[in-house]
Amino acid sequence: MKKNNNKFETNAIRTQLKRTENLEHSVPLYLTSSFVFEDAEDMRASFAEEKERNIYSRYSNPNSSEFIEKVCQMEGAESGFAFASGMAAVFSTLAALLDSGDHVLSARSIFGSTHSLFTNFFPKWNIDHTYFKIDALEEIESLITPKTKIIYAETPTNPGVDVLDLEELGKIAKRNKLILVIDNCFASPYLQQPIKFGADLVIHSGTKLMDGQGRVLAGITVGSAELMDKVYRFSRITGPALSPFNAWVLSKSLETLAVRVDRHCENALKLAEFLEENDNVNWVKYPFLKSHPMYEVAKKQMKAGGCVVAFEVKGGIDAGREFFDSIKLLSLSANLGDSRTIVTHPASTTHSKLSVEERAAVGISDGTVRISVGLEHIDDIIADIAQALG
Ligand SMILES: *Cc1c(COP(=O)(O)O)cnc(C)c1O
Repeated sequence: MKKNNNKFETNAIRTQLKRTENLEHSVPLYLTSSFVFEDAEDMRASFAEEKERNIYSRYSNPNSSEFIEKVCQMEGAESGFAFASGMAAVFSTLAALLDSGDHVLSARSIFGSTHSLFTNFFPKWNIDHTYFKIDALEEIESLITPKTKIIYAETPTNPGVDVLDLEELGKIAKRNKLILVIDNCFASPYLQQPIKFGADLVIHSGTKLMDGQGRVLAGITVGSAELMDKVYRFSRITGPALSPFNAWVLSKSLETLAVRVDRHCENALKLAEFLEENDNVNWVKYPFLKSHPMYEVAKKQMKAGGCVVAFEVKGGIDAGREFFDSIKLLSLSANLGDSRTIVTHPASTTHSKLSVEERAAVGISDGTVRISVGLEHIDDIIADIAQALG
């Protein structure tokens, strides 16, 4: 990626493919599986990687390249690869970097499928892991073994919206020569750029705030050119590449990321403040509420608090069910970062595979509600939640 002095919003719009002879204003869709060669020498040189060009869409495609370039600009990364889903990005990135016998130190509170990858699948390839508590980063160094290669974390976390100190994690990784991988999905590149704090690789599920309208699945990893080369070598062989159509949708979506996320955050903060005052609510968590235990850290590393608010309905599981059954306007769904506000019950959906103890360890009670605050008018969002709580 070539750095420039343009602001975030400008790069999100003006980073785009060169125009074709048709002089199109908006970048066209390149639905092609492969690309042709001029002659025998071109073919040889292309496969020998003596020139940078598209060969086959499993390796690269103009629409994917545009999407990757935009995210690299946003995250301050050297290079990237785009995947068919966030989990394809998580799996391929880790599988590309880890060898049999290696050890990963991961935060306890991570996305459910990532947790399952560490717990249920990596042991098959003799890849070990230890979970560290997110409120005790000072313990991390005591958990490092000679086999440890990667520190893995998300912030804010799902669904507890806890915040981890990225600067602290960056220092620990540097001191111990470990690779720091951050899943930055909950913040989006607009609110937080982990590379500034020492992350080596940043992963996103593009399905969430990046698309922002609940249409496509996508994932992306960006970071140092050296590590991304390993991720690219693995991915071009194993085939988790993003489809050109989804890449094209994502590149358009990123043009409006800043304005959308600004409104998501404004709405989420207003809803969090409303919930804090409500008598039927036990607790509320949102990174930019002063009552959040990591409020100062959130202020230091994030531009705003994000789109997700977590809270607990008073009255346990029965009151929780009644709350969900009373929602009229908003969606009961498991996605997040959508223009539509989504209300989720983690204990019976996204985290239902965890035991009660495991759920408690990541801050989920039976009554925990996760709301991904959308772009409807805030008065209508609050009105629906208020009547359901009543
Ligand atoms: C959704 C999500 C993922 C997985 O992304 P998919 O696109 O659903 O595969 C990974 N990490 C976090 C934090 C997520 O919210």
